[in-house]
Amino acid sequence: MEIRTGVERQPALFIGHGSPMNAIAENSYSKSLKLWGDKLRTLKPRAAVVFSAHWETDGLQVLTVPAPRTIHDFYGFPKSLFEVQYPAPGDPALATRIVNLLGIEAATPTTQWGFDHGVWSVFRHLWPDANLPIVMVSLSKRLDPETHLRVGRWLRPLRDDGVLIVGSGNIVHNLKEIQRDSAALPFPWATEFDQRIQKALVERDEKTLISASRSSDAAARKSVPSREHYLPLIPVFGATMEDEVPMFISDEIQNASISMRSVVYGFPQ
Ligand code: ZN
Repeated sequence: MEIRTGVERQPALFIGHGSPMNAIAENSYSKSLKLWGDKLRTLKPRAAVVFSAHWETDGLQVLTVPAPRTIHDFYGFPKSLFEVQYPAPGDPALATRIVNLLGIEAATPTTQWGFDHGVWSVFRHLWPDANLPIVMVSLSKRLDPETHLRVGRWLRPLRDDGVLIVGSGNIVHNLKEIQRDSAALPFPWATEFDQRIQKALVERDEKTLISASRSSDAAARKSVPSREHYLPLIPVFGATMEDEVPMFISDEIQNASISMRSVVYGFPQ
């Protein structure tokens, strides 16, 4: 594979994470993430900013610790999952820069978090060496898409400074309807909503992306029963450029009600 040199504009990507078991699974999804990790490494990013569905705070917060701990924020899973550590460094200087970039949004620095499974279940496949510094930005508990779209826009310049922008959540995420079999046939409402968002991403239909999680139709209500998993998509979209075409790196629906759809913007053609 071609190795490029110098600082290039880094991609913005949204990764569906689904069940924590995906962190240790060998499946088509994890293989796709591994492959894309190899591609991203050719661009030599120096750090990543990550929004996880599993970190909501009052107002926006930015994690400033130099060595974030690995958080096992779930229960009822095998011991092997609780043993996973993801020892990537933080980047306090970048975190401070982000607080400043988000000045008008009143983001505050914090040391009170670490890598939840929204981060490590994805990065374990994407960046197995755990040597890319990661700065987490929380979701505001209000979970309003408009704020998070602006946050993505404020952080967009970081892409030209060697920083990946990453969201980790799920476009369709309904645990109540989940089927035990990961390969179970998707519910029609899950497919409908997933394809609605795919179309909106392709057409850069910002209005639909913003309003979809508040829509009252059956497919939207079933697919987004609560907004925290959908929302990390929004700052990623906010960080994209007008002329960037999305590349879908996974489009499966696991357990009938979890869309693993993952998308990369700004990877050189
Ligand atoms: Zn999750």
